[in-house]
Amino acid sequence: MIPFLDLKLQYESIKEELEAAVLKSLASTQYILGEEVAAFESEFAAFCGVPHAVALNSGTSALHLALLAIGLQPGDEVITVASTFVATVAAIDYVGAKPVFVDVEPETLNMDHSLITAKITERTKAILPVHLHGHPADMDPILKIARQYGLKVIEDAAQAHDSEYKGRRVGSLGDIACFSFYPGKNLGACGEGGIVVTANGDYAHTIRMLRDWGQSRKYHHDMKGFNYRMDGIQGAVLRVKLRHLKAWTEARRCHAQMYNELLRDAEVETPQERDYARHVYHVYSIRTSQRDDLQKKLTQQGIGTGIHYPIPVHLQAAYADLGYKRGDLPVTELEADRLLSLPMFPEMTNEKIEAVCRQICGVIL
Ligand SMILES: *Cc1c(COP(=O)(O)O)cnc(C)c1O
Repeated sequence: MIPFLDLKLQYESIKEELEAAVLKSLASTQYILGEEVAAFESEFAAFCGVPHAVALNSGTSALHLALLAIGLQPGDEVITVASTFVATVAAIDYVGAKPVFVDVEPETLNMDHSLITAKITERTKAILPVHLHGHPADMDPILKIARQYGLKVIEDAAQAHDSEYKGRRVGSLGDIACFSFYPGKNLGACGEGGIVVTANGDYAHTIRMLRDWGQSRKYHHDMKGFNYRMDGIQGAVLRVKLRHLKAWTEARRCHAQMYNELLRDAEVETPQERDYARHVYHVYSIRTSQRDDLQKKLTQQGIGTGIHYPIPVHLQAAYADLGYKRGDLPVTELEADRLLSLPMFPEMTNEKIEAVCRQICGVIL
């Protein structure tokens, strides 16, 4: 049995530190926000190389408040991708704005910047690229277009903690960046969590108010806000885990390299890392036209796999009202049928990677 993801191994490797931090947090009775969350905000902001971070209860909340902070209004348009988890698009819908999809680059499955300009209208206010699977989007051309047209750039970095673009950490590239600490992410809480990071003090101030009912002082509601605060315990947990993140990233990168080598002669495409990128392999996905067959056979052998994502957002029933149809985003659609994510977590062993690759080579040659 090789699971797709094993959170138990990570827990066991940091059990003492984690339990001490959780007990301390319990005893403090600061169950919501509080000192541990504030300390985590400072540490995560420093990690990303930006001055401000505001901790929230999920990555989805981070996207929602980031879009509100830039002043998005109902009817405004946001250019994004359909090759993502649904939350990216849901957040745009929450504020009554309209997601406008562009196709992705085949190599990285990230936003194809050459398609952006054709989609800009007088309603366009922002561009929302996703660093899919942990590989950064090609940000410089995106930022150049944004500057030219006066648009804001929000990074969906939910899958890309510690990833770099041209030597700069993701999170420091756009106007605001959003991270998720869903347990399976590269930095995961013991429950829900998310954070917004930004160099813009006004945005940080607005998001800080919006997460806590729009209050400037207790019971003084200056704006219509939300209950999007991070738990104290999650702040304590994330402080412990942040100290291990760099080592975990290195382990993921080593595993990816080993997969790449062992799959070199198999009839599958392995993920690419562009010159500008430091990929953090939140997901290690191969591509093959025999995807469904391969997945079935690996399952039979006790090897867990995933598909990220089988149905692009523009073809999801919930977003039919946006008016897209099959054929609108050819690269996104083609790759959704070919992607297969292999087991990937820092505690994977060489033996397990070899076993997975042996099975793949046995099915596909
Ligand atoms: C996980 C994820 C989110 C949402 O984060 P939650 O913490 O689950 O709300 C948003 N965007 C992408 C690309 C994600 O992978």
